[in-house]
Parts: sequence; structure tokens; C-alpha cells
Amino acid sequence: MAGVQVGKRIIGADAPVIVGWENIPKVEGGPIKQFVFTWFQPVMLFAAIAFWYYAPNWLAVASTAIAIRLGWTVLLLALEWVNPRHKSWQLTWKEGVTDAFYVGLGMTFIGMVDAYIGDGVILGAVRDAFDWEKFDWFTGLPLLVQAVLISMIFDFGQYWMHRAMHNWHPLWLTHAPHHYITQLNVQKGAVGNPVELFLIGLGIGGLFDFLPRAFLLAGAIGMTVGAYQHINVRFNVPRWWRFIFNTTEHHSVHHSQDYEATRSNYSGTWIIWDRIFGTCVDGEAEVLGMEGGRRMHIGETMVFPFREGWRDGKAWLAKKLGGASNPPAAGLEPAE
Ligand SMILES: [Zn+2]
Repeated sequence: MAGVQVGKRIIGADAPVIVGWENIPKVEGGPIKQFVFTWFQPVMLFAAIAFWYYAPNWLAVASTAIAIRLGWTVLLLALEWVNPRHKSWQLTWKEGVTDAFYVGLGMTFIGMVDAYIGDGVILGAVRDAFDWEKFDWFTGLPLLVQAVLISMIFDFGQYWMHRAMHNWHPLWLTHAPHHYITQLNVQKGAVGNPVELFLIGLGIGGLFDFLPRAFLLAGAIGMTVGAYQHINVRFNVPRWWRFIFNTTEHHSVHHSQDYEATRSNYSGTWIIWDRIFGTCVDGEAEVLGMEGGRRMHIGETMVFPFREGWRDGKAWLAKKLGGASNPPAAGLEPAE
């Protein structure tokens, strides 16, 4: 495959990747369908912002966020069913049940970590660690500005953590199982080794009841934009949206079987971080995964970082020791 030059890199030499928004297929169907799948993403974002902005205090709590998340997931699954992006990505029973397993694992894993460390301990530590009065200048800003800044700063951290995972081998071993997914669906964000979940999430779920409104708003922005990273829905994405935010299209490129394509679009919410740091590739890919699309089963996903880490460690040690003893051994070889 020839591939397409993007900056200094060739994208799509190993596996097919569509580069450029003008080459991405549009939503097929009548004007109502066109309208819905053009404006769904912005409308949902503005609805979420309006809700968390105006909801009274008794309603702006963790259990509301969890309930919204649940309803939101069901709605997105329905969209996948109504308007799939790729037929090859449609959920089978096997895929669906596997995804549900990882979602359940993520919820219990976070629950376990919270129980072990203790919500009270975390909350106390956060309260003591910050001199909140120093943030007066920040909390004096309009609420929405605070929320956007919090979301962007958080995503900036995620961007570099994700980029480090693709560039430093020990971190890659924790992230690699997630790259074995061969299709994108609503729950696929949960598929991967729990160590990665811990590194990316670091269990902020328990803070909801205490964190100020700006954090709830930031969380809502992250959820209503980030949810489309893994989804099998065809949208006509408005130009301004795809310029600012990460999209299904961007993230499918990141999951391509093409190696160079995976080294792009690291951010979760704000694709402008990728634009600023030169790692953005606008386009989409259908052929996803690693090793030609080998499906990694649950057992292997759980042990992968440890098994590969152990193997690499042994190989490294053997090379170190072997390197020291080889020259004399080579001297014993018969001269020709
Ligand atoms: Zn990745």
C-alpha cells in the first residue's frame, strides 16, 4: 500500500486508512436522518452543560451522574443499531458480552480501589493538599470558563499519558491489550488491562459528591465528547466540532492496523492538543487491531503486561549477561 503523506509521516502504508475529511463517507438517508446525525453530538453537549449548570444542588450529585451515564449508554447503543458506521463493526453476542464483562470489571475494580484507599481518606487528602483560597482567582471566573479549563487541563494530562504509553515500552505493555480491539462500540473504552484503567483514571469517581460544580460540568463535557471515541455510528460531524473535539473518526485512525496511524490522535476530548503538538491525523479507518486483527481473549488481556514484561526482562538480562561472557566464548571458536 502506498499510504498518504501527513506532515513528515506516511499514513496507511500497512493497512487502509482514509485521510482527509472530504474523503469520509456521509450519512445516507432522508433529510430528517441527515439532520439528526449532524446535530446529535452538539445538541447533547449543550443539553449536558445546561443540565449541570442549572440543576439544583440536591440533584447535582453522583447518583444523578451515574443514572445519566446509564441512560446515555443505552441511547448510544440504539444509535449504533439504527445507523452503524461499518457493518463489520456491528455488535455480535460475543462482542457485546465481552464488552459488558469489561464494563463490570471496571466498575468493581474502581469500587475495590476506592474501598481499599477509602473515600474519606482521598477526600481529606484533596482538601488538605490544596490551599483553596489560592484558587480564588480561578473560582471567580465564570463557571463555564472554569469547566472548560478543568476539562482541557485534565485532557492535556491524558494526552501525555497516552502518548507516553505509545512511546515507552513498560507503559505500552499496559495499553497494548486495548489496541487489540478490532471494532469500535460504545463500551469498548472499558476493554483493556486493569492496570491501564488505573493509570488513566486514578479513581476520581468517588469525589463527585464533594467536588464543586465546575468539576461536574467538566466531567459532563468529557463524557458527552469522549463517549464518541469508541462508537459505531456514522455522523456528519460539523466542521467546528471536529476541529476542536476528538471524534469517532479520529479515534478509529488511532486504532488502525497501520502502525504510523496509531501514533496519532492521543487526546480523549480536545483534539486541539493533537493539533498543537503535531500528532493529529484527520480521517477514519475500518480495519483495526494488532497482529492482523487477532482477537485477544479476556485471560490474555489480564496477564499480557506481566507476561510480556517478564519475557522482556528475562531477554534483557540474558543479553546483559550473555554480552559479558560472549567475547571470551567467541575466542574459543576455531579460526577459519
Ligand atoms: Zn492508544
